[in-house]
Amino acid sequence: RPMTIGFIGLGQMGSRMAPHLLTARPNPNPNPSSSSSGSGSGASLDFDLDASGVPPRLLVCDNSSSAMASFCALHPSATAATIETIASTANIIVTMLPTPAIVDSVYSTLFARASTAGSDGSSTTSRRLFMDCSTIDAATTRALASRVPASSHFVDAPVSGGVNGAAQGTLTFMVGGPAASFAVAAPILRRMGKAVVHCGAAAGSGQVVKAANNLVLGVSMIAVAEAMAMGVRAGVDPAVLASVINVSTGRCWSSDSYNPVPGVMPNVPSARNYDGGFAVELMKKDIALALQAGKESGLSMAAAKLALQEYSALADHPDFKGKDFSAVYKYAMDQAAA
Ligand code: NAD
Repeated sequence: RPMTIGFIGLGQMGSRMAPHLLTARPNPNPNPSSSSSGSGSGASLDFDLDASGVPPRLLVCDNSSSAMASFCALHPSATAATIETIASTANIIVTMLPTPAIVDSVYSTLFARASTAGSDGSSTTSRRLFMDCSTIDAATTRALASRVPASSHFVDAPVSGGVNGAAQGTLTFMVGGPAASFAVAAPILRRMGKAVVHCGAAAGSGQVVKAANNLVLGVSMIAVAEAMAMGVRAGVDPAVLASVINVSTGRCWSSDSYNPVPGVMPNVPSARNYDGGFAVELMKKDIALALQAGKESGLSMAAAKLALQEYSALADHPDFKGKDFSAVYKYAMDQAAA
């Protein structure tokens, strides 16, 4: 009997991630300490996509009919399904959704249906593996984890790598949840990524790590943008300035891999009018998540507050909404000119 995977949320990321689940992939870096379940209950066999020798079935769901239509046209082996059908029939359920409120509402339906499925013969198993790959706050994740039906697994597994990483199956997954849940989730996540890291046994650990990384990214981009703007205004060639920063103590990804000044690098959003890439709205959301996590721990995080103000200003500006977050350089230059 094939395994059944349910995938909910076929947007920019999900539509590119889901197809990888149908393709087996050798584990390039077997790590016995991270792949043994430790539960001793044979739990991993319940979720082993290769055990039956038959490719898994893929059920997909998105509340946008155009997202569904384009995915199913590209991937005819996938079957359109409702959240309720996925909850009743899928062994493995992946969600890739935009906001905490939407994640919470989808899981309310999933958990309600999954805990009754099986009693009427509608389900082959009552054990399920739920993996939420959305970027949301750790508090919502912890609340979800406390409602997971008995004998099922739940992990938070937010990603880094963007749409290119999703398309190429090279995402990094930051996973929170008990070791036994990580052990069953990791081989499945590896089909969609190059790195799958267990960030902690507590629910929400993956979300905390994701928020921390994106806080560094968001703040460092503003620092690079302001430094480059300062140099350019003083008459320094931005390529020269970047070349020095990139071999000095200011070196960071925002400067050496994603420079925000047009003309300094090819193939980055600054080279194409800041289109494509990672939208200012998503960066604003992620900085807000980091601030919220810090607040829960009693931290005030001054730089995060300023970064939230800056990305909020871009998101509210008609010329910058929807643009890549490195447009913060152009915003700084325009402000100075005004
Ligand atoms: P997206 O808005 O393109 O996709 C979300 C999809 O969810 C949409 O197709 C939408 O129709 C669907 N959806 C909304 N409500 C639904 C519901 N109730 N039931 C079923 N489907 C529903 O967003 P995305 O860019 O794919 O991002 C998804 C998540 O991944 C977000 O949390 C985002 O922060 C995170 N993320 C995005 C990137 C990126 O570069 N885009 C990178 C890393 C992480």
